[in-house]
Amino acid sequence: MRNQEIVCPSSRAILRAMLGLAIASSVRLLPIPSVLAEEPEKSPKPPMAKRINSRVMPAFQTLADNTPAQLAWNAKTIEQHKAWQEKFHAKMIELLGRTPERVPLEVRWAGKKDFPKLTRHKVYVRTEANYWSPAYYFVPKQLRGRTPAVVCLHGHSGIFPYIREGTEAERKKCKEHSLDYAVYFAEHGYVTIAPVVRGWDETVADQDSGARNPRSCRRVTMDAFLMGMTPMGLRCWDAMRLVDFLQKQKEVDAERIGVAGLSGGGTLSLYLPVLDKRIKLAMIGGAFSSYRASIYSIGHCICNCLPHIMQYGDMEEVVASYAPLPVLLINGTKDPIFPIKEAKQGYAMLREVYELLGAGENVDADFFDGPHSWSNKKTLGFLAKHFGN
Ligand SMILES: [Zn+2]
Repeated sequence: MRNQEIVCPSSRAILRAMLGLAIASSVRLLPIPSVLAEEPEKSPKPPMAKRINSRVMPAFQTLADNTPAQLAWNAKTIEQHKAWQEKFHAKMIELLGRTPERVPLEVRWAGKKDFPKLTRHKVYVRTEANYWSPAYYFVPKQLRGRTPAVVCLHGHSGIFPYIREGTEAERKKCKEHSLDYAVYFAEHGYVTIAPVVRGWDETVADQDSGARNPRSCRRVTMDAFLMGMTPMGLRCWDAMRLVDFLQKQKEVDAERIGVAGLSGGGTLSLYLPVLDKRIKLAMIGGAFSSYRASIYSIGHCICNCLPHIMQYGDMEEVVASYAPLPVLLINGTKDPIFPIKEAKQGYAMLREVYELLGAGENVDADFFDGPHSWSNKKTLGFLAKHFGN
């Protein structure tokens, strides 16, 4: 006790002395800000907040105005285009992010169902060490030799309405928005494969809060970003492994494989030809507009976000980076989330690009009078023209 009594007062005295020195030195070194002399700041009253306007979107609009696309296309000659294409393509590969390690192709066949015009197989394709992509593989019953194939990617309604399955509401949605293009193309003689996009339906983990259907886009996106990957890059990777699968099937013509998708699937269809040169045509539905007018300005799922893209170019530049690949753009003129005005502007630029390359017939658009939806008005003609089936 005695020792403590001796030690404690002297320790407290030392502390007091040190504190006093610190206060004295801070008073000496730092002038007291005038605000300290005033009344503590109160929360701004609503009229003041309204007058000043502290909402965040105007700030972001200004930031976007000051973010010019550094690699905007403006070629006047084929040579200039080729030089631009090389640069932009390399940038896209970088932006789509790292891909997983390639593993040998393995397939598990998990059942089949017969329909009047086709057989539907359920397969699991190993796309990386610890992930098997579930997919529905459609084979027409009447094949004429090696057949062209289409990878069909679904959007943010999950796989079921895209393959004429699911609840009554999902089947209704399928009909109203023509979501069943995987089945439709197979009924018209094409082999198709429709994966369950990574993070959807049976591959869900950590359900997105507030989402009405089974999806974990948020988890897929956050984890991908943390590792230098992107959800779009990863989902394209799965689609690329499905191309590996298609090329091994005896009924498929390995040189005639295309991609089709609506909405989130349309965005994947926009990016897949960047990564996979085996893709010989693309049908991009309900996804083509400008980043600024769509994903940047309107509420979209976070998985649509490709980091840094607006610094380099817009969606027409993405397509131009693989021109003269045959591309069909499909947009409803009343689609509220991918505005048609910017889609038309982008298409006009693509016409210039394709004409410059002497391949004007390779790019087409179906801007139909309708909502955020698929349309088959031009698809079969487009397939026949470029795949000759
Ligand atoms: Zn998503």
